[in-house]
Amino acid sequence: MSFFNGHNKKKYTIIVGCGRLGAHLASTLSDKGEDILIIDKDNASFRKLSSSFGGIALQGDAEEMLMRGECDIDAAESVISVTNHDNTNIMIAQIAKEKYKVPHVIARLYDPAHECVYHELGIDTICPVVLSTQEVYSILHKEMAV
Ligand code: AMP
Repeated sequence: MSFFNGHNKKKYTIIVGCGRLGAHLASTLSDKGEDILIIDKDNASFRKLSSSFGGIALQGDAEEMLMRGECDIDAAESVISVTNHDNTNIMIAQIAKEKYKVPHVIARLYDPAHECVYHELGIDTICPVVLSTQEVYSILHKEMAV
C-alpha cells in the first residue's frame, strides 16, 4: 500500500500520537508543505488537527502497524513518536531506526530518566520537562539581568 504516490517522499513524515503536541506538530508541518501521515488509536483525537491539515490521518495502534511495516514506513524520511507512553515511544523509535532504517527518528519523553536509554540507541529525544526547566531558568535570569 502506498500513501504518497506522486509526493516528495524525501519529506514524508510519520507522526505517532495525535494529542496536543502531535496535532500541533502535524498541522504546522503540513502548513509548511510537508507530507504528513499521522496515526492515533483514538479517532476522536484527529479533531485536534487544524482545518488546513492536508495530510493523512490513520486510526490504529501504531506500534502494531509499524511493526508490520504498514504506512510505507520503509519510505519515510522521519518518524516522530509523541504518544503519552514513554515505553511505546521507545518501541516505535526502535522499530523505525533499527528495522526500517528511517533516517530521522525523534521520540518524546515524559521521564527525563529514560533519556539515557534513547541515547544508547542513537535516537533523538525531546523531553518537555527538561525544555521547560531550561526555559524557566532562562526567563528568570533574563529578569534578574534587567
Ligand atoms: P497527549 O498526551 O495529549 O500528547 O496525547 C497522546 C496521544 O497518543 C493520544 O491521542 C493517544 O490516543 C495516542 N496514543 C497512545 N498510544 C498510542 C498507540 N499505541 N498508537 C497510536 N496512538 C497512541
